[in-house]
Amino acid sequence: MKIFAALSLLFVLLAVSATSRSITIYEGGNPGQFDFYLFVQQWIYSYCGQQTCIASKEREAFTIHGLWPENSDGSYPSFCKGPSFSSSAIQDLMNQLNYDWPSLTGPNTDFWTHEWSKHGTCSLTGPITNIHDYFAAGLKVYNAYNISSSLADHGIVPSNTQSYSITSITNALINSLGNTPLLQCQNGQLSTVALCITKDLELMDCPALDGWSCSGSTIIPSTD
Ligand code: 5GP
Repeated sequence: MKIFAALSLLFVLLAVSATSRSITIYEGGNPGQFDFYLFVQQWIYSYCGQQTCIASKEREAFTIHGLWPENSDGSYPSFCKGPSFSSSAIQDLMNQLNYDWPSLTGPNTDFWTHEWSKHGTCSLTGPITNIHDYFAAGLKVYNAYNISSSLADHGIVPSNTQSYSITSITNALINSLGNTPLLQCQNGQLSTVALCITKDLELMDCPALDGWSCSGSTIIPSTD
């Protein structure tokens, strides 16, 4: 009877650890211990439909949310050991960051400080050796793989009335960029697109990850 109880407990513990694996966050670890990056972009009008944004920053575009170290099982490191954020390290990138990596709700430097502390500190590996490299890498990937124009090339343009199937959006991006992305939708709107990037900053196919799926069709809201 005791053996049966012990085996049952072991089974429960294994099941719990298997189901929670996908949401494991390793805080305070060493940089560079992850499988690939998720390069996450937000569609402004979907994000700003959910919270109050700074009106002058709203435009029809995907902007950068972050470059996030990620593991294939969905776990990820965060807040690693590393230097604190410093604006002076990225002075030469500031114009482009203000436009392509803005906070839509507050001061840009607060957003960059958060993204650096939570995700950037864990990214110090390979070509990313410092704060400047991290933000330059985000801008480089953003410029190399243009989601809006990849969609437009396949007739998928923002509209408040026309919806698009998730399959057509995914296929358009695979066709233009060459690799499988991940999508998130909120309230029937496409909110987020993630590209998967190797530690050498090359595009790769995204694995299926918990929390990254949309089904059916979606709207890409526009200015009208
Ligand atoms: P993360 O998703 O990188 O862990 O956290 C994003 C944090 O940045 C949140 O606390 C969010 O409130 C803040 N934030 C500031 N501006 C923005 C923005 O424009 N987009 C997003 N997604 N988060 C922002």
